[in-house]
Amino acid sequence: MIDLHTHSKVSDGTDSPSMLINKAMAAGITTLALTDHDTISGWEEARTALRPGMDLVLGAEISCQTEDGVSVHMLGLLFDPHFMPLIEVLDQTRDNRIGRMEKIIARMQGAGIEIEMADVLAQLSDGATLGRPHLADALIAKGVVKDREEAFSNLLHNNSAHYVSHFSPTPEAVIKLIKQAGGVAVIAHPYATLRGKIVRPTSFQSFVQAGLDGIEVSHRDQSVEERELLMAIVNEYDLIFTGSSDYHGEGKLNQLAEFTTNPAQWKKLEARADQRRVIRT
Ligand code: AMP
Ligand code: ZN
Ligand code: FE
Ligand code: FE
Repeated sequence: MIDLHTHSKVSDGTDSPSMLINKAMAAGITTLALTDHDTISGWEEARTALRPGMDLVLGAEISCQTEDGVSVHMLGLLFDPHFMPLIEVLDQTRDNRIGRMEKIIARMQGAGIEIEMADVLAQLSDGATLGRPHLADALIAKGVVKDREEAFSNLLHNNSAHYVSHFSPTPEAVIKLIKQAGGVAVIAHPYATLRGKIVRPTSFQSFVQAGLDGIEVSHRDQSVEERELLMAIVNEYDLIFTGSSDYHGEGKLNQLAEFTTNPAQWKKLEARADQRRVIRT
């Protein structure tokens, strides 16, 4: 079983990278990608925790925004972590997430919700990428909501009055950086309409021109109809298609390997990296 999209505590998952590795092995996963939001800081621990029997793919889920304001998540896999232009973009995004969180909190305070930055930071492990799930956890701790699900559906969703976006490069810029760093680029859950505005079908042409390798088709936030529409785009541009769990630990319902990637698709994708960077012990 191949699961190419998972999160750990170094962003908004709840398992440490080594716990994630252990759970993935116990679940029978044979190839696992670690793709924390805008950071590679979990790579070393994951590499150290790896044992024989599973291949590890190191990556990141990189936040992007189109020119017309649609939020896009780009999975970068197998890239060279020493390629500084890409690492600098991740650093800049993480920095910007702090000011953005302060703005969201100010809006919530304006609406009479008792929450402070310190409450949110208390939910974050050291150096982790700050995101709305940490704010959700702070609201749970304060008794405002019962779980992350309720926090997102009532207060934190993209169309909420409290929502503020953060600095993000365009998907095209990020795809080019991933490719320059020798990696492969797969757009994550592009048609997840329940999360908010989605990319226009016409945007894919420009992503492909920038070097997009694949589309995450099977994902719990995309309906059967949305997956069919994406498969038509995969076929139109001869792209690779993936399926993955987007596992976040306890914070979300997503279970490891609830969706997986076909081995033949993974083989094609892996072959597009400039070096064989899959880790195996
Ligand atoms: P941010 O990066 O701060 O914009 O927050 C986005 C994160 O929130 C992503 O990791 C999503 O997985 C997570 N998220 C989005 N919707 C929900 C939800 N309904 N319940 C829990 N987490 C969610
Ligand atoms: Zn997340
Ligand atoms: Fe995502
Ligand atoms: Fe994700």
